[in-house]
Amino acid sequence: MTDAIRQVLTEVRGALLANDHQDDISEPRLMERVRERIDRDTRPSLRPVFNLTGTILHTNLGRAPLPAEAAEAIAAAALRPSNLEFDLQRGERGDRDVHVEAALCRLTGAEAATVVNNNAAAVLLVLNTLALRKEVPTSRGELIEIGGAFRMPDIMARAGCRLREVGTTNRVHLHDYADAIGARTGLVMKVHTSNYAIVGFTSSVGEGELAALCHERGVPLAVDLGSGSLIDLRPLGLPHEPTPAESIRNGADLVTFSGDKLLGGPQSGFIVGRRDLVAQVRRNPLKRALRVDKLTIAALTAVLSLYQDPDTVAQRLPVLRLLTRPLTDIHAVAERLAGQIAAAVQGTGFSVRVAECVSETGSGALPTCELASAGVALAPDGKRRPRVTVNTLAAAFRALPIPVVGRIRNDELVLDLRTLDDEAGFVAQLPQLRLANSKASDHAG
Ligand SMILES: *Cc1c(COP(=O)(O)O)cnc(C)c1O
Repeated sequence: MTDAIRQVLTEVRGALLANDHQDDISEPRLMERVRERIDRDTRPSLRPVFNLTGTILHTNLGRAPLPAEAAEAIAAAALRPSNLEFDLQRGERGDRDVHVEAALCRLTGAEAATVVNNNAAAVLLVLNTLALRKEVPTSRGELIEIGGAFRMPDIMARAGCRLREVGTTNRVHLHDYADAIGARTGLVMKVHTSNYAIVGFTSSVGEGELAALCHERGVPLAVDLGSGSLIDLRPLGLPHEPTPAESIRNGADLVTFSGDKLLGGPQSGFIVGRRDLVAQVRRNPLKRALRVDKLTIAALTAVLSLYQDPDTVAQRLPVLRLLTRPLTDIHAVAERLAGQIAAAVQGTGFSVRVAECVSETGSGALPTCELASAGVALAPDGKRRPRVTVNTLAAAFRALPIPVVGRIRNDELVLDLRTLDDEAGFVAQLPQLRLANSKASDHAG
């Protein structure tokens, strides 16, 4: 408290010495400033937010929201010791993979499975284990960059592998791979082009064909699926997204995919496939550096167990529930909230209307899939010059106790309501929306 008082007084003195007599330096105002500073400085840095951006798996906002079952499992594992790496039957040291391996094998048809910190780590570990100082033939059309500096050629270099580019950007043929495989090949890599699509004069080689070629030549085929939905999404009315089970059926020897994309779990990455190769991966010293923590294992166990009931998983797993939320449902939320949001921004020169919008999956999953959604759009009402800019308005929503993050589109602030789960919590804090200092913040912005 003393620190906060000193900081505020230093600021006030500085302003006075600079001959700026704008500040209100009455005692109540000073007290208020001290209180604000203490609030700001003692608030946790990582906080929950309302993600109303329209991007369901928003990497900057923590990707998949977990089901309550996972949160309970995390709390249980956090509060007490657990048999994380302890075989209770034999009373001996065990392996942390056992808690998820059986479920992963059941869901993917793989012989073995292991889990690491994220899919980037899974890819790194596979490359480093099977192709250290060896060549990795990969199609030129699949040398992708995922947001946040995951670039396939760079990962290969850091894994100690030599990338051998195959085919061209738009077309690759089986004979291109056949020509590239040789004595120096460690593995052949096939990568899901997660966040973009190549259209037009294109051709690629299917997993089945490529696997047959690899096996004839005695090299393993690794497939990086990126998102890798555990279930077929078509019955849910969504586009087809390749599943690890399909890749395994097609003959892939190892498949890597993320835990917090379409799978809907905590940040993690999986390597599933042939037992001998997974065992080799586990023996790599890097596995120890990339291993997951008990809280992740606890959450994963809960999430994977929801998949055991295919009839209810789409409702019980938040990611699938949000992806398949009916438009009429989202519209009804927008209709309910529009009036209350309008009241909160009254006098700013912004009007509020229910608007159509488009949600996307995010995180490079289902990259070309547009989900019709609904929300509210806050736009200048055109009658007079708005008292605040759209950026100030967006900042005011972000300054709420539970920050609301929307999307600015053509000078409008759009709040996509597909992903609003806690309507009551959202409404309850609306009266705290502060647009009072709009003049000052407009200059700053
Ligand atoms: C997302 C993605 C990755 C990285 O996965 P993280 O879990 O974010 O580390 C790797 N490869 C592909 C093809 C991806 O789509």
